[in-house]
Amino acid sequence: MRLEFPEGGEDYRLSMVGSPPNTNETAAHPVILSRSDHGVSRKQIDESTLKVLYRLHRHGYQAYLVGGSVRDLLLGRKPKDFDIGTDATPQQVKKLFRNCFLVGRRFRLAHVRFGRDEVIEVATFRRHPHPDELPDDPEEHSFFVQNQFGTPREDAFRRDFTINALFYNIADFSIIDYVGGLKDLENRQLRVIGDPRVRFDEDPVRMMRALEFSARLDFSLDAETLARITEKAPLISEAASARVREELMELFRHGVGAAVLKRAQDLGLMQPMMGGYQPGESTFKLLELLNQSFKKSGHVDESMILAALFIDRFWHKCPAQSALPINEVLHSAGHLLTPYCTHFRLAHGLRHQAREMLVGCYRFTRGLGHRGQKRFLQNPAAARAFELFRLWNQAIDGDPEQLEVWQKALHRGPDQASHAEPQASRRTHHRPRRRRPKKPATV
Ligand code: ATP
Ligand code: MG
Repeated sequence: MRLEFPEGGEDYRLSMVGSPPNTNETAAHPVILSRSDHGVSRKQIDESTLKVLYRLHRHGYQAYLVGGSVRDLLLGRKPKDFDIGTDATPQQVKKLFRNCFLVGRRFRLAHVRFGRDEVIEVATFRRHPHPDELPDDPEEHSFFVQNQFGTPREDAFRRDFTINALFYNIADFSIIDYVGGLKDLENRQLRVIGDPRVRFDEDPVRMMRALEFSARLDFSLDAETLARITEKAPLISEAASARVREELMELFRHGVGAAVLKRAQDLGLMQPMMGGYQPGESTFKLLELLNQSFKKSGHVDESMILAALFIDRFWHKCPAQSALPINEVLHSAGHLLTPYCTHFRLAHGLRHQAREMLVGCYRFTRGLGHRGQKRFLQNPAAARAFELFRLWNQAIDGDPEQLEVWQKALHRGPDQASHAEPQASRRTHHRPRRRRPKKPATV
């Protein structure tokens, strides 16, 4: 690897304005890997992204590939998406592209659209403002902090981890590293840019991201960072719930939900995130099985994750095979889920589905032949509840016999299964029967 240290340019000069907080900016100049010294080829970059990069460059702007895409390309992984950083302001980007829309209430971004559903995100380089610069009104801080344009160097230092702050420059196809990310990539180490204490104070979601990337890439986290996570863990409860929820879903999309949540629990992050509740060991086993099943199906089911997170507690309230009336079970399940759903502002539909799944699991423990069984089997939710129950059973090494019975009933469908429904399950109160409209006679 040949390293190149250019003469101190504009980046260095401009970085004196509003220095970032406690960043360990030991190197004044970035490390630059020229094209011949790295393996990232334009062939690996998506065509539309290249078009945007080239057009920005042709119009005299700096145009870099930034963030996770550079990290993944250097690691030989396929990037999830390609983000672009530039010194053009969002307005200037808009002028260059007919198909460009400015988005983001808080963080102003340019979206360049290609075809129906391809969107390339172009962000102007940002800097971290000095605390003295902040507006008087604390409500405006977040907007102000996120929208101060800066140099590439400043932009690198405001990012979360060194490996996420590498740039690919379309002008000469070089990789630019201001923060020591290349070395960390080589050592397979995830390192926070700057002082972890300060960076976690600024944004507690970074603690979850640290665990996520460490698990996804199988990179190590140093003892100091782990200690800081334990120290700052309670702050996660103050983070914007929508962002925490998004991070949680991201874990499952990448197949590391169970591993990361287990580690989060060990470091004390889980309790503040879950409003004081700590799931037990079997829940983590269940989450692992769920993760595997999502991988197979390619679909992450949030309501199932939600039900899984609370199933342990649910059994405490509604013990398997107990003779609780279903209404009471419904009520208990709803009661368990509500504080979490309210905090994370989950849609009613999601809560409803998770509740149905828990109640379904309870029904499965009681075996066939109970009141309401026919209607339950008619409901499409029964199959999903069964999937959860099956995985839970596997997680706790439960009795497979119960599973088989229900599997058959579900397979047969409600009509054939209903012969097992006993007398007690018929309506006992009198209600006038609704007549079904007569089917026209088939010819
Ligand atoms: P992937 O998209 O593969 O999950 P990514 O690194 O691209 O990984 P994103 O969440 O897409 O992650 O964020 C893009 C980039 O924005 C990151 O690489 C990082 O540089 C920066 N970033 C994201 N979140 C934060 C944060 N909370 N604090 C500082 N920088 C962040
Ligand atoms: Mg990304």
